[in-house]
Amino acid sequence: MRNILFVASECYPFIKTGGLADVVGALPKMLNKDQFDVRVVIPKYMCIPWEYRQHFNYVTSFYMDLGYMPNHVYVGIMEYYFEGIHYYFIDNEGYFGGDKPYGEIKWDIEKFTFFSKAALAILPVVGFKPDIIHCHDWQAALVPVFLRTLYKDNGFFWGTKTIITIHNLKFQGIYDIKTFRYLTAFPEYVFTPANMEFNYDANMLKAGIVFSDYVTTVSDTYAGEIQMPYYGEGLDGLMRHKNHSLCGIVNGIDYNVYAPEHDIQIYEHYTPETFDKKVLNKRGLQQELGLPVDDNKFMIAMITRLTDQKGLDLVNYVIERITDEHTQLVVLGTGDEQYENLFRHYQWKYPERVSANIYYSDNRAHKLYAASDAMLMPSRFEPCGLTQLIALRYGSVPIVRETGGLKDTVQPYNWFENSGTGFSFANYNAEEMLNSINYAKTVYFTDRERWKEIAIRGMRMDYSWNNSARRYEELYYRLTPWY
Ligand code: ADP
Repeated sequence: MRNILFVASECYPFIKTGGLADVVGALPKMLNKDQFDVRVVIPKYMCIPWEYRQHFNYVTSFYMDLGYMPNHVYVGIMEYYFEGIHYYFIDNEGYFGGDKPYGEIKWDIEKFTFFSKAALAILPVVGFKPDIIHCHDWQAALVPVFLRTLYKDNGFFWGTKTIITIHNLKFQGIYDIKTFRYLTAFPEYVFTPANMEFNYDANMLKAGIVFSDYVTTVSDTYAGEIQMPYYGEGLDGLMRHKNHSLCGIVNGIDYNVYAPEHDIQIYEHYTPETFDKKVLNKRGLQQELGLPVDDNKFMIAMITRLTDQKGLDLVNYVIERITDEHTQLVVLGTGDEQYENLFRHYQWKYPERVSANIYYSDNRAHKLYAASDAMLMPSRFEPCGLTQLIALRYGSVPIVRETGGLKDTVQPYNWFENSGTGFSFANYNAEEMLNSINYAKTVYFTDRERWKEIAIRGMRMDYSWNNSARRYEELYYRLTPWY
């Protein structure tokens, strides 16, 4: 039995701001219980809903030194067995008492430095000796650094290997070296360009990558892309250096939650065999949104954070040409004001063609996946992307840019072979995107049977966690060959 510890700043259903939480919530449950004892450690945020927090059991507490801070810092340990997984929560109200998990950068840096050190410090206390510590993103990136420096002579951690998974390389946890020196008391060699230093500052994710035994990211293509300057966010050189111990494993989605055959949030259930019933969802949503109720409109959905990453400047450039009289563009998302206003404006200008839903709603999202004919994702970069996986499951045909996980999970439609599950374009260019959209429209309006076949092929793809969990297991085996 190998002991695996997940360290992360988010975990569904306790606390979620993005896809990271879904992965940390789902993956431990999917690993083989006979081979792996997987436990998860996250902060005990006060903003974790009470329905969960009330069940947390106090284990013990102690005081830990943190860098050169004059006073020792309180570390409380809470635990909770939930749906077969053993969770630990690190308690310190000073750090985790806020109404959301992240805030001002300097404070976040201190919070997650504390968290990373505490995640190691609790292990001898609770008696869980990990074979592998699997860290996620910059918030947990200092775990391998503490392990290989301040804890290197601690026999408890003999043989412990570390993995860091990069969910989005854009976020790295960068702050000045002086602050980190004070917060960590790392030996001076850590703050050199070969280790943590980055453009004269200190970079938590960089240090985590340098000090961990293996690096994974959330799709094969993204693992290749981040070794290039365009996608590397300044770390492409390091990623190339790590090439021999770097791989991409695509995320899965929860097939119980995203299931058109029994999703209680949608108007009408359907399966590949009863695909024709999908249109009832379109009618229902058109009515709900005040759009003309018409089966024959080509409904394009966008369910996304409205940020630069998601390719919204391309949409802005050609939106007048996307939204012809046969098309309905339904947007669900929040984010940058300029993009929120872009869609509000076009809803005002073309109320029968554009619906701007500028808020977060899980219910609307489910209805929109079920109602739409296509899902537009022209991302500038996309480490994995869950939206296209969910869209495939609901028979909403993805139209994507060939980057990161989008490239790995959407097979472009080929007219001659009648193969493929979506439409795609290569360059970050608005005209190319428009070409793909128009190609999709052409198939939709001229050959509805073919369109159905594309959608049904997508529904039959398997992007559940099953496959990806097996790949993580292989990696865990590979890193602990002595068992
Ligand atoms: P990212 O993690 O970069 O935001 P992903 O495609 O990996 O993008 O995941 C986005 C997830 O968030 C999807 O499950 C999507 O349905 C959901 N989502 C995004 N915006 C909204 C919204 N406004 N309302 C409901 N769900 C949303």
